[in-house]
Amino acid sequence: MNDIFVVVEHRGGVIRDITFELLHQGRKLARESSGRTTAVFLGGGIGHLVPQLSSRADRVLVLDDERFAYFDGRVIQAGLFHLLQEYRPLLTLIGQTSWGLDLAPGLAVKTGYPLSTDCVDIGLENGRPHALRQIYAGKVFCRVSFPEAPGYLLTVRPGAFPAAAPETLPGEVLSPVIPAGLPAPGKQFLEFIESEAGEVDIAQAEFLVSVGRGVGEEENLPQVKELARSLGAALSCSRPVVDKKWLPKYHQVGTSGKTVKPRVYLALGISGAFQHLAGISGAGTVIAINKDPKAPIFRAAHYGVAEDMFKIIPALLEKLE
Ligand SMILES: Cc1cc2nc3c(=O)[nH]c(=O)nc-3n(C[C@H](O)[C@H](O)[C@H](O)COP(=O)(O)OP(=O)(O)OC[C@H]3O[C@@H](n4cnc5c(N)ncnc54)[C@H](O)[C@@H]3O)c2cc1C
Repeated sequence: MNDIFVVVEHRGGVIRDITFELLHQGRKLARESSGRTTAVFLGGGIGHLVPQLSSRADRVLVLDDERFAYFDGRVIQAGLFHLLQEYRPLLTLIGQTSWGLDLAPGLAVKTGYPLSTDCVDIGLENGRPHALRQIYAGKVFCRVSFPEAPGYLLTVRPGAFPAAAPETLPGEVLSPVIPAGLPAPGKQFLEFIESEAGEVDIAQAEFLVSVGRGVGEEENLPQVKELARSLGAALSCSRPVVDKKWLPKYHQVGTSGKTVKPRVYLALGISGAFQHLAGISGAGTVIAINKDPKAPIFRAAHYGVAEDMFKIIPALLEKLE
């Protein structure tokens, strides 16, 4: 049977969005290949979270043990390796996240399975997967095929797929035996620090004006702030703007910033790197202003202006007045 394993990612007692996105695609692939989706859940004291998975997968494998309580790539990898040997799934889907990046390469070496990282689409043809990846900062897509193997590993970019909704039939829940000889954790969990909330919670904003490195200099920011104020929007930004200390971290959108879901997202001078786009996959209407007509942001935008933002902002402000 074409079993699709989905590695469940969780933190602080919450299952991360990427898990539900993987389950969406896992279920689609399983349906197309008459297979089955299995959520693989390793953690400590996680029993209460299982219904969120059993309502979205055909089967849930739960390894509930204190040694899995806080993420340690080596320990989780050993647990997963054991499950892969025992259940022999065709595909194993893992998030392209700090978790997944710690886990997947070592697992590929241990199992000998081929690995494709940062996939934005995955299909199955004649029992073998193929995947789509982006190269050259998102400007080129390439299709990846695999040599024949007993199993395949793929890490999937956050935001590449929608989240799976619960289905009515609960999946089977199994608790396999915890493998003997797990390595001792090599890291010690000290505390969990929430990111700053800031004056404005961009994650809750209905309208965001977002600024990227294209703003050029800190001295140009007041124009963008004025535009946001005139439009009644909150201000957000890409990572370089935070790295340059032009805006505080709580304004940052993306994989290492916040995930936002505004009704309107106006991106100014943002190229559209995948780490940024992952943070706006839930946005309603995306409008991009970028002077490079080939910028990847235009693929995510519903409306686009290929022009210098410093020509557009004054014109917009004038109209608004
Ligand atoms: C582990 C990791 C995590 C990351 N996390 C994040 C994250 O959370 N969020 C994030 O945003 N990035 C993140 N990044 C960085 C990401 O890869 C990109 O480098 C970043 O998003 C690029 O920001 P940008 O679009 O503002 O800048 P650039 O890529 O430099 O793009 C600037 C754009 O502005 C345009 N431009 C220039 N001048 C003008 C003008 N006058 N008018 C109009 N357009 C103009 C240019 O054509 C260009 O497209 C992360 C990277 C890594 C490795």
